[in-house]
Amino acid sequence: MLRAARASAWGNGMLKVLREPDEMHAAVDAWRGAGRTIGFVPTMGALHEGHFALIERARTECDITVVSIYVNPLQFGPSEDFARYPRPIEADLAACESLGVDLVLHPPEAVMNPPGYATFVNVERLSVPLEGERRPDHFRGVATIVTKLLNLARPHRAYFGQKDAQQAIIVGRLVADLNVGTEVVCCPTIRAADGLAKSSRNVYLDADQRRQAPALYRGLQEALARFEAGERRAGNLRDAARAPIEASAALRLDYVAAVDPADMTVWPDDAEVGNRALLAVAAYAGATRLIDNQMLPADAPLL
Ligand code: AMP
Repeated sequence: MLRAARASAWGNGMLKVLREPDEMHAAVDAWRGAGRTIGFVPTMGALHEGHFALIERARTECDITVVSIYVNPLQFGPSEDFARYPRPIEADLAACESLGVDLVLHPPEAVMNPPGYATFVNVERLSVPLEGERRPDHFRGVATIVTKLLNLARPHRAYFGQKDAQQAIIVGRLVADLNVGTEVVCCPTIRAADGLAKSSRNVYLDADQRRQAPALYRGLQEALARFEAGERRAGNLRDAARAPIEASAALRLDYVAAVDPADMTVWPDDAEVGNRALLAVAAYAGATRLIDNQMLPADAPLL
């Protein structure tokens, strides 16, 4: 449907794609000067329903919707999937156009990481556990590029997915610490019918891995059910979340952790979680890394 929409509508001037900072600033400053609010959705492309939900939220809450598409090499480790990360730019632009996006920022490497580039943003403490521990420099890469993108888009609001909960927390912190002047909005995780969180990386899964991948979601739901029944012991909540993953031959558990989303402190197994906890999980299906999480209680805000 999205491809058909592009074939008929692309080229009518509704969607602008900009690659140079001066052009981006001219566009967003003109909108700001006219008193229009700018909503910004940073992405690495290979857009799916999770991204679409962020875009739709931005469209609902802001006058102008800006999406960035940039596969950020700084956030990939040397043995990770940067080279093979999907880059279906034509389909992504078609999707943006049919969703009513006003501007796509698609900066080249020469803009994001020019010769002589030397400035990095490191959000201390919050970047240390969980994904930070497994993926050294990942959040330094995310924080640096998100800061640059916010400086390019100058948005009133920026939309991030709960799916990448630690990332949303880190971005919230850097925006506050550096007085960026953007409101960070965290949006719910969008899932397939069987519970698997939508991800650009799901295309890597073979049929068996795809069938077993919802074990992450099932484990989190089991832990949530225990929490709702009164369980507070971190170790017991972790055990509930890990059981379906460990029972899935195609999956290899990386971690399950109960953390305080205010400061990313990990609760030890024998501690009781607070009244707002983030249960985060990571597992491998072959070489593909899957992450997911659940707030406890379910209606507690992440940020
Ligand atoms: P990415 O392109 O993977 O860097 O993701 C761009 C944004 O989309 C991030 O804020 C992600 O958290 C968000 N996102 C990715 N997958 C989902 C999902 N299934 N539901 C909601 N947001 C998502």
